[in-house]
Amino acid sequence: MDLSRFARRRYTRGATPIEPMPRFSAALAASCPGGRGPEVWVKRDDLLGLSPGGNKTRKLEFLVADALHQGADTLITCGAPQSNHCRITLAAAVKEGLQCRFVIEERVPDSYHDGATGNHFLFRLYGVEAITVVPGGSDMAAAMQAVADELKQQGRKGYVIPGGGSNALGGLGYVACAQELQLQAFERGVGFDAVVVGSGSSGTHGGLLAGFVGNRIETPIIGIGVSRDPEQQAPLVHAEAQAVSDLLELNLKVPRDAVRCIGGYWQPKYSLPNRRMVEAVQMLARTEAILLDPVYTGKVMAGLIGLARAGEWGAGQRVLFIHTGGLPSLFAYQRVVLGQDDVER
Ligand SMILES: *Cc1c(COP(=O)(O)O)cnc(C)c1O
Repeated sequence: MDLSRFARRRYTRGATPIEPMPRFSAALAASCPGGRGPEVWVKRDDLLGLSPGGNKTRKLEFLVADALHQGADTLITCGAPQSNHCRITLAAAVKEGLQCRFVIEERVPDSYHDGATGNHFLFRLYGVEAITVVPGGSDMAAAMQAVADELKQQGRKGYVIPGGGSNALGGLGYVACAQELQLQAFERGVGFDAVVVGSGSSGTHGGLLAGFVGNRIETPIIGIGVSRDPEQQAPLVHAEAQAVSDLLELNLKVPRDAVRCIGGYWQPKYSLPNRRMVEAVQMLARTEAILLDPVYTGKVMAGLIGLARAGEWGAGQRVLFIHTGGLPSLFAYQRVVLGQDDVER
């Protein structure tokens, strides 16, 4: 598949590494039935550019290129109070000499604080131009359009990026990741029996799936929901994968049964902690010195651990975990991840 007809900015030098995690795999196996579990590898998309990088970096390579092509002077996007996506979009704006504005959705009431740490601190350090805070359930597209209209009246030009950067263009970032991964696995002579990735606004899961289908990569992708159970999440992922595939003019139908979503690990609510997330964050830190985050990758890894313990993979099978980043919000949940605050389940 040829992505070269799409304009792209580059924010990462070279490919992100794929690495085995022998100490984590051993600890996981010890907690699996019969003491046998899969060999778990990680793709280090937490080492993408726009420091500290994550999956949004890949999507923004295509989205920002489009914004520049359209002559925009300001990026406008939206997210939760600890949004990695907002922070990485802002970092891209800084790098490109653009301004950046956010609409922040208080999905958890009263969760927005001016003096907050984590990503919010970085919003301020990177120099966000303006933040509008709206209640949970607001029409985010309309709120962002209002910001764009206001800029237009001042003779400026905003470029609106949807939540998570998840539209067809943003999804190309994970088509590029699929191709990068295919080449890396081939060069290292490793095959994977499954790829495990977080599934939220769906650009990552859907883009990766479009890349796998388009490149005829047979490895199943398992998306662990961070905000929805499969009945709501799978249609979103399917629509995203199809939109990406259509943008690429692949002329194919993404099979519905290629969309596999797992629920049950994000509760009690998006961004709120649970015990299995705390276990996963501690386990990765203490076996591999790899930092997960409490909102996304901690819950996704909890899903991988849960599937392994339920016997999803046999010994000798190889599973690749896509580490999508999210480091800064770890610092906004210090007591929780150290096990000092009581959390649900
Ligand atoms: C946004 C995000 C995700 C979810 O990716 P989507 O493309 O929104 O589904 C996973 N992990 C981290 C760290 C994120 O910031």
